[in-house]
Amino acid sequence: MLFTIICALLTQPPTTQQPAEKPKTLTVTIEGDVDAELAPVAGNLTTLYYQCYPKLLARFENPNKSAPRHIRIIFDSKLNIPAHCSDNRVTVGVQWLKKHPEDFALLTHELTHAVQMYPRGEPGWITEGIADYARHLYGPKEQKGWALPSRLSERQKYTDSYRTTGRFFLWMDQKYPGSVDKIHRAMQERNYEKSIFKTATGKDVDELWKECVTELKQKK
Ligand SMILES: [Zn+2]
Repeated sequence: MLFTIICALLTQPPTTQQPAEKPKTLTVTIEGDVDAELAPVAGNLTTLYYQCYPKLLARFENPNKSAPRHIRIIFDSKLNIPAHCSDNRVTVGVQWLKKHPEDFALLTHELTHAVQMYPRGEPGWITEGIADYARHLYGPKEQKGWALPSRLSERQKYTDSYRTTGRFFLWMDQKYPGSVDKIHRAMQERNYEKSIFKTATGKDVDELWKECVTELKQKK
């Protein structure tokens, strides 16, 4: 059954200056294999889109290249992973969302990919780490069954991706404000090199990881 919601929102003027040519109207469509059982999830995804996408655009959009203003959320009954994103299409797994309807914040992760628009070949662990970092920050605040780890251990690595890297980036940006944005911009501009960590924080990434693990361990 095809169930389509089309909504439009005039976003508030962003607090930071953005180039005038970027359109302010955001739209979303819900498409694909949606049934009555999934209707509440479809509603939650739509609400979350309007809550978090403006924030993701304000922080992560490439100043020289517009991210999509129209997002298609496509329910796929054959998808065997929770979700993925390609350009402006966020495909979500029907099987996953029927089992885990509370996990609709996966949209924040996928929308981060829509805004990242990194060139091919950039390190995947940074791409996924920033997407989980953004999911934590841009919400929603309470996410049943999902959280960044409060601690990390020496057995893990900053390249483990997803929540591990997301937690590392959260720590790094709190300790060295602006560092995540510097790394993100370097990724967007195809200027990423490992040395960007040193440029952004004064320390290389292995040193930062050790410092992060130690500090999180000491935290009460
Ligand atoms: Zn991802």
